[in-house]
Amino acid sequence: MYIKFKKNITNEVVEKAKKIIESCGLGTLDIFDEEIRKVGILGNNKKNLVELLEDDKEVSQGIDKIMEISVPYKFSSREFKKSDTIIKIKDVEIGGDDFILIAGPCSVENREMVMKIAKEVKENGGKILRGGAFKPRTSPYDFQGLEEEGLIYLREACDKYGLLLCTEIMDGKNIDKVCKYADILQVGTRNMQNFSLLKDLGKADKPILLKRGMSATITEFLMAVEYLIAYGNKNIILCERGIRTFERMTRNTIDINAIAMIKEICHFPILIDASHGTGIRTLVEPITLSGIMAGANGCMIEVHENPCCALSDGDQTLNFEDFSKTCKKIFKTYEFKKSL
Ligand code: PEP
Ligand code: MN
Repeated sequence: MYIKFKKNITNEVVEKAKKIIESCGLGTLDIFDEEIRKVGILGNNKKNLVELLEDDKEVSQGIDKIMEISVPYKFSSREFKKSDTIIKIKDVEIGGDDFILIAGPCSVENREMVMKIAKEVKENGGKILRGGAFKPRTSPYDFQGLEEEGLIYLREACDKYGLLLCTEIMDGKNIDKVCKYADILQVGTRNMQNFSLLKDLGKADKPILLKRGMSATITEFLMAVEYLIAYGNKNIILCERGIRTFERMTRNTIDINAIAMIKEICHFPILIDASHGTGIRTLVEPITLSGIMAGANGCMIEVHENPCCALSDGDQTLNFEDFSKTCKKIFKTYEFKKSL
C-alpha cells in the first residue's frame, strides 16, 4: 500500500503522515515519482491506519489516493514507482543516461595487478572497479581472497584513477570493514537468499549490487530486493549473472528475458554480467551486447593482465587487448540502442 500525495504537498504534511504510519509500527518509504510525492507503507498491520490518516485533516486533505500494490515485490515494482530509479554515487549515475561499465579482476591477487587493471578500466571508459577480496569459492581449498589487504589495494587504485569500488560482502560481521573501503557492496549469487545478510545490508548506508541467485526466479530475485528495501536500503542495483539450466556447455545460461522483463516491471537499474553468465571469454562480448539491446543499464566484466594465470575465473576473463576492443563495441552498441 502507498500514499500518493497531491502535487503541491508540503514536507510538513508528508512528515506528519509518516509519523502516523510509524506510530502503527509500520515502516515508510518516501520517494518522488515523476515529481509526485509518494510514501510506501511497509509492513502488514494496517488495521485502523486509513482511519487515522483520515482523522488528521491536514493529512487527509493532502492525500490524492491511497493505493494497493497487487504484486508481491511491492516497492521495487513499477506499480509503486513508474519512473526509473537512478542510483547516484559521487559523480556516477547508475540507471540514468549513461551506460555503466564495471570491470576488474575476479579476485584481488596483489597490489600491482590491481593498479594495472584499474588503469585499463579507467582508460576504456569504466566508472567502477570490481574485485573480490572476500571470495565465495566452491572448494574450501581454493584461494579465498586477500580480505582486508585486498580492500586496501582496491581503494588505493580507485582513488588514483577516480573510480568507484564495488566488492563482494559475504558476511554481516564484515559490513563495517568493507564499508570503510567500498562504494558499492556486492551480494553474490550464493547469498541472494541469505535473508539475515540482506537484513543487515538493509541497514548499511552503501548501495547494494544484488546478483541474481543461480536458481532464483525473477520474482524471488525481486523479493530479495524487497528485503533490502524493507530493512532500510533503497539504493539497489540488480545484476543478471546467469542461472543454472540443463545446458552444461556454458557455465550458466544468461537470462536475457530477465533483463527485458525486469526493466518492464521494476524501477531499479539492472546490469548484465556475461563473464559469470557464460563462463567463456569469447562469449563475453556478444552476450554483453545482447544485454544492452535488452535494456541493461550497465555491465560487469572480468579482466586480468594474464587470464590464464588468474587465481579465479580465468576462463571467463578478458585480457587487456580484448577488453579494450570489447569496451569500444559496448559503448557503440549502447549509442545505437539509444538511437532506436
Ligand atoms: C564474482 O562477481 O566474482 C562472483 C563470485 O559472482 P557470482 O556471485 O555472480 O558468482
Ligand atoms: Mn568471478
